[in-house]
Amino acid sequence: MAREFRTVGVVGLGTMGAGIVEVFARNGLEVIAVEVDTAAGERGRAHLDASTGRAIERGKLTREQADELLGRITVSTSLSDLAPAQLVVEAIPESLEAKAEIFAAVDAVVAEETILCSNTSSLSVTELAVRTKRPGKVVGMHFFNPAPVQKLVEVVRTVVTEPDVISDVEAFADSLGKVPVVIGDRAGFIANALLFGYLNHAAKMYAERYASREDLDAGMRYGCGYPMGPLALLDLIGLDTAYEILETMYRESRNLMHAPNPVFKQMITAGLLGRKTGRGFYTYEAPHSSSVVPDGETPSPELPEGVTLRDVSRVGVVGTGTMASGIVEVFAKAGYDVVVRGRSESKADGSIGTVRKSLDKAVARGKLEEADRDAVLGRITGTTRLEDMADVDLVVEAVAEELDVKRAMFGALDEICKPGAILATTTSSLPVVECAAATQRPGDVIGMHFFNPAPVMKLVEVVSTIGTSRDVAATVVEVTKKLKKVPVRCGDRAGFIVNALLFPYLNDAVKMLEAHYATADDIDAAMKTGCALPMGPFELLDVVGLDVSLAIQRSLYSEFRQSGFSPAPLLDHLVTAGRLGRKAGHGFRDYTRS
Ligand code: NAD
Repeated sequence: MAREFRTVGVVGLGTMGAGIVEVFARNGLEVIAVEVDTAAGERGRAHLDASTGRAIERGKLTREQADELLGRITVSTSLSDLAPAQLVVEAIPESLEAKAEIFAAVDAVVAEETILCSNTSSLSVTELAVRTKRPGKVVGMHFFNPAPVQKLVEVVRTVVTEPDVISDVEAFADSLGKVPVVIGDRAGFIANALLFGYLNHAAKMYAERYASREDLDAGMRYGCGYPMGPLALLDLIGLDTAYEILETMYRESRNLMHAPNPVFKQMITAGLLGRKTGRGFYTYEAPHSSSVVPDGETPSPELPEGVTLRDVSRVGVVGTGTMASGIVEVFAKAGYDVVVRGRSESKADGSIGTVRKSLDKAVARGKLEEADRDAVLGRITGTTRLEDMADVDLVVEAVAEELDVKRAMFGALDEICKPGAILATTTSSLPVVECAAATQRPGDVIGMHFFNPAPVMKLVEVVSTIGTSRDVAATVVEVTKKLKKVPVRCGDRAGFIVNALLFPYLNDAVKMLEAHYATADDIDAAMKTGCALPMGPFELLDVVGLDVSLAIQRSLYSEFRQSGFSPAPLLDHLVTAGRLGRKAGHGFRDYTRS
């Protein structure tokens, strides 16, 4: 018979503990919460009051319900008060010694049948289990932040956990409206093992000033649809907690991607722990507030001194593929005159045809007036002559992703385009500086990396080489804003911001699958319900294409030489076997209908 849980305990009422208490109380359970001292207990209570207050404001809870909920919670400073609990979740800071002490102490006061859980993000649950007299009844119950919102609960079994304990905790998590995923005891489990390499990499990019904190975060929000950028997420998690998680993961994996970037230590020493202290990567209105206030790092909206914007009204697009047609549409919609150059008349016409189709769809959906469609189309002209680029103010090159082809194109554009014209490439993986070096005007060459489909995706990475003029970068940023897109500025490195952060994470997911730690379904579910990502890694890989993903991962590996970036052999094998993802009907999953 499955156990029933009516009275539960929580140790530690911090960021996670308070959220977990709220989840339990909302589900009608009696909760005994234990903190170190009265002041910490009161802080925890205040946390709960504020959170239920917000729920009332949003109309999700009535005052009476909130009072009842809070009435089910007892806050204590003595572990012996946990005696009646049928299940206890420990949520104190990420220290093995401190946690082990709590487990030993709780073990001594609760009934024999009581299940002890740790909310640890990375420490060994087995180590905690063996410090008690009931190793078979110790599991990980890993909630995600904020616990009342995120659905995932990783239920961690050790080699000695009793099977019925696992199934009861799984059913319990289910009864709380959560999505439980049962896994083995490895540092970082599923979600953090995949998330923290990415977060650490973002912290490294920030510390190296590769891009600003705002641009790193905007990159992942607008380029991948993530609910938060990595640095804002680190502030929410807490830099001290993140540091400990990375340390533990590194100790187990010896993967340099997990070695905490020195910036963590520096910020922790200075007390910049994130939202909880009012300052982390960003500055907040007050401790525990989510409202960011401007500080010394906030970018100024003013142009830097000595920089004057160039005039851009006529734009050229070279190429007629998917990206080129999308870019033509975006510019023409924003009011620019666009000339699109194809290698043949039929290609140029085809590209304009693609734009027309897309605009017709918008008209059919009632999103665009017919007259506006006609005006947009009226601004586009097709040509086969590269010479027609002579009078444009900005050219966006979107031809095949081959260095020789692009270099030849930039050499030709350099001969044709008027002085002062900006030459942009939309390459996603080649060095922009190679295009610049093919011209006599490297200062005018820049990357303008659109995402697919260009008319939909909001992000544009504005990539300056070591030689790009400041006024060229500033002009492209302004033009991007006029396109109603979000520009982020970065340097000329493999993967720019988004691909450099995204693909190593996808590659790690493949390595995790290859190691048989979890199934593709569980990994996808964990990332969607634990981190609120719009797609799981395997869903996304199949959409992007495994060949494209492998090529990007290879280019990252060959530039950074980080062993952690080495492409997963399974990815390579799937590509060799022709399982390229959705476009081939098979990838990590099968898409063909029988
Ligand atoms: P936190 O620093 O916000 O809170 C820890 C709380 O534990 C504090 O209120 C502290 O006073 C209390 N505490 C310390 N020692 C105690 C003791 N001996 N007895 C009772 N209470 C004690 O930390 P957090 O971010 O809530 O992390 C708690 C655990 O949850 C860690 O294991 C962490 O890895 C894990 N976790 C964190 C997140 C996150 O996003 N922050 C997500 C999932 C899991």
